[in-house]
Amino acid sequence: MMKYRHFASAGLDISLLGFGAMRLPTIGGDHAHIDEGEAIRMIRAAIDGGVNYVDTAYVYHGGMSEGVVGKALKDGYREKAYVATKLPYWAMQGPGEMEPALDLSLKRLDIDAIDFYLVHDISGDRWETVKQWGIFEFMARAKQQGKIRHIGFSCHGSSPDYFREVLDAYPWEFAQLQLNFLDKDTQAGVAGYEYAAGKGIPIIVMEPLKGGKLTDSLPESIRRRWDALGGGRTPAEWALRWAANLPGVLTILSGMSTMAQVEENVRVLSDADAGGLSAAELKALDDLAAEYNRLITYACTGCRYCLPCTSGIEIPQVMDFVNNWAMFAQNPKLKNEYRMFLETKASACVACGKCEAECPQHLPIAEAMKQAAGIFE
Ligand code: SF4
Ligand code: SF4
Repeated sequence: MMKYRHFASAGLDISLLGFGAMRLPTIGGDHAHIDEGEAIRMIRAAIDGGVNYVDTAYVYHGGMSEGVVGKALKDGYREKAYVATKLPYWAMQGPGEMEPALDLSLKRLDIDAIDFYLVHDISGDRWETVKQWGIFEFMARAKQQGKIRHIGFSCHGSSPDYFREVLDAYPWEFAQLQLNFLDKDTQAGVAGYEYAAGKGIPIIVMEPLKGGKLTDSLPESIRRRWDALGGGRTPAEWALRWAANLPGVLTILSGMSTMAQVEENVRVLSDADAGGLSAAELKALDDLAAEYNRLITYACTGCRYCLPCTSGIEIPQVMDFVNNWAMFAQNPKLKNEYRMFLETKASACVACGKCEAECPQHLPIAEAMKQAAGIFE
């Protein structure tokens, strides 16, 4: 039986596994062309397996994800699941576009109210936009109008301090963070999680499996360590159990692409409890994380001192891609993610050197941009 965690302030029980609808199966490798039939079967199978939280976003799959989730929730499934979607304010020209975007999300999902509405991806300078555009007021108004029920945000901010500032600025009901055993000190990390947990704000975990890269094409040295860990568990299972081990986690979103993943994730999170991992198991996962980190190319800490880049490149994100390329044995998924998620590509670098003068790690950033362009473009 699926495990559930209590969302006290909302009085809801939420399944420990949440369905992330950002990596649905596609046809012909075209991200915007979802294999609707299979995606609907998968979402419904997850709900039949006890999942009651489905997470999408206005922008996922080139705007197609919400519509597919809406179709999956027909035939009685809406009554069994809460829906989360997100406001992509950073893709808008001005605050006047927020309400039409919310209304379009409702229309695509074909529902009267969105259960969990998030300010999508607060990071870097976007925090200023959130404040200047009156997004808090907009969210409160939408809630009053009955269009949304619970207000939260997702955050890829660069540090625990950044996350704390956002968390303290508004009475958020929940927050969504990238959290996995490899990223304990990345972005808000475990310190951010602990801060939220201390305030009683539940955390929704995203990227528990590093976008699925943990589950395939492992470098040899890493594969040996996973095998030594034993227990008959896959890396995906260990990673899910690591996130489930944290009591302040409300639900763990997995962006599932195949029915096999749905089945495995449902199975694992039907049998995982907070505090379920032993000290020895946690230590073994820390050692594994250290081994992964030994493979990285650039010791970028994500501090962002190098920004803004003259050409508008999100330098820490590119560094992350280059490092992941080495850590995950040249996983081809990274090429898709680079194309999808990086607004200004690394080839825009003009080698001005401005960033390198600011980098406390003295990293050869221009060279890294060249390397990234060679790999991913
Ligand atoms: S060297 Fe390249 S990455 Fe660095 S600031 Fe200049 S254009 Fe941006
Ligand atoms: S300043 Fe250096 S260490 Fe910091 S984010 Fe930029 S590249 Fe990474």
